[in-house]
Amino acid sequence: MKKGILIAFGEIFLKSPGVQKLFKQRLFFNLSFFLKKTNLDFKIYSQRERIFVATEKTKRAIKMIKKIFGISWFAESLFFEKGSLEEVSDFVKKNYKDWIKEDETFALRLKKSSEIKQSGQKIIEEIAEGIKRKVNLEKPKREIFVEARKEGWYLYFKKKKGAGGLPVGVGGKVLALISGGIDSPVASYLMAKRGAENVWLHFHSFPLVSRASIEKVKELAKIFLEYQPHLKIYLVPFSKIQTEIRTKTLPKYRVLLYRRIMLKIAKSIAKREKCSAIATGESLGQVSSQTLPNIQIIEKAVSIPVLRPLIGMDKEEIIKLAKKIKTYQISIKPQEDCCTLFTPKHATAKGNLKEIEKMEKKLNIQKSIKDTLKEIEIINY
Ligand code: ATP
Ligand code: MG
Repeated sequence: MKKGILIAFGEIFLKSPGVQKLFKQRLFFNLSFFLKKTNLDFKIYSQRERIFVATEKTKRAIKMIKKIFGISWFAESLFFEKGSLEEVSDFVKKNYKDWIKEDETFALRLKKSSEIKQSGQKIIEEIAEGIKRKVNLEKPKREIFVEARKEGWYLYFKKKKGAGGLPVGVGGKVLALISGGIDSPVASYLMAKRGAENVWLHFHSFPLVSRASIEKVKELAKIFLEYQPHLKIYLVPFSKIQTEIRTKTLPKYRVLLYRRIMLKIAKSIAKREKCSAIATGESLGQVSSQTLPNIQIIEKAVSIPVLRPLIGMDKEEIIKLAKKIKTYQISIKPQEDCCTLFTPKHATAKGNLKEIEKMEKKLNIQKSIKDTLKEIEIINY
C-alpha cells in the first residue's frame, strides 16, 4: 500500500482521445517539474483517468500540486497497487476506528471501472460490513471514497478543489504585457490557467527613473514560476520614445500614443517568440485609456489579437485574485510607472484615430521602434 495524492483531471475529459493524450503528457511533465523542484521523494503513476503521486510527504506535495493547472480535484489517498477487494476491506476493518468516532455516521462512495468484475453492490456491502458504525447516506459525518480500478484500488476521505484550467503549455504561447501594477500579473495568471504559456514583456523607463519596476517584475516572476515551469522576460527601454512623444505631441493623446507604440513593439516580439496573441491587464472603464473607444484606437495599431482576461472584472475582484495568487503585496510596492510619469492629468476618454495616426507619422515611430528593439534585455528563468 502506498501513500500519496490522487489527482483527477478537469476539462481534459471534454477533449478527443488524441488531444487528451497530449494534455495528460503536459500535465505529467508539469507535475514532475514542480515536484522535482520541491526535492521530495516521489513517483508518479499516470493512469487512464487518474494520476497518482506516491510520496510520504503529502503536505509538502499538496502545497505545490494545488497550484498546478489542469487538475480539477485531488485527495490525500492510499493506493493499493494491483489490489483486491479483500485487501481493501481488511484494511478498512482494521483502521476505521481511527477515522470515524463511535457516535459518528459514515457513507461509502464507490467508483468502479468496468474491468473490475465484482458488482458495486457487493463491494460496498463487503467493505461496509467491517465498519461498526451507523450509515447515513445523505448527511454522513465521514465519507469514505473507494475507487476500484484496473491499476489498483484507492481509498481516501476528502476531495479538495484543484487549480482548475488546463495544463500550462497546451494552449500555445501568449505575450503578456507586465507593468508591475496589480492587474497585469493577474491577467497573465488567467492566461496560464487556460493553458497558454506566457512570455513576459515589460517596458521600463530606466535611466529616466530607477530600475525599481524591473526589480518588481523579477519578484513577480518568482511567484509566477510556481504556475509555469519556465519564463522568458523581455525588458524593453521606453524612455527615449516617451521623451520623444512628450516633446512632440499634444498632452491629451499621449497615453494612447504610448499604448499603441507599446503594442507595435509587443507585436514584433510576439512574432519573434511565436506568440499568437498579446495579453494585457486592461479592464473596461478602469481608466481613460480603457474605455471602448480608446481600446479600439489602441488595438487598431496592430493586427495580432489582444486578449484582455480582466475586461469584465471589477478592481475589487482583481485585487482579491491578486491576493490569492500572492502577487498583490509585490504589485503595490511603489514604483515610478513609466506611463504615470508622463501622463497628463486629463487624458481623453475618446480619442481620434486620424489625429493619432497623423502624430505617429510626424514622430517617425518606425525608426524609434527599430532603435528600441536593439536595446532589449532578456531574462530566462
Ligand atoms: P496594471 O495594474 O497592470 O499596471 P493598470 O490598471 O495600471 O494595469 P494601465 O497602466 O492603463 O492599467 O495599463 C494597462 C495595461 O497595459 C497593463 O495591464 C499592462 O498589460 C500594459 N502595460 C502598461 N504599462 C506597461 C509597462 N510599463 N510594461 C508592460 N506593459 C504595460
Ligand atoms: Mg499600471
